[in-house]
Amino acid sequence: MPTSNCPECEEEVYVDADSEQGDEVSCDECGAGLVVVGLDPIELDLKTDSDTGDDYDEDSSDYDDGDRY
Ligand SMILES: [Zn+2]
Repeated sequence: MPTSNCPECEEEVYVDADSEQGDEVSCDECGAGLVVVGLDPIELDLKTDSDTGDDYDEDSSDYDDGDRY
């Protein structure tokens, strides 16, 4: 399985052998979301997402706010 290095923590990240450019993987070490930007050799870039991933918006307070009582 091909590997590349996480741009965030430099850890080796495994990439599926049949990955294509634009595929998303995540670093097992630091949990960063990564995007395959090159295939020969495998190159990974940090995913700069605007609508997925961590919800640190000010509106995210209804996520686990005790609605289930
Ligand atoms: Zn990492």
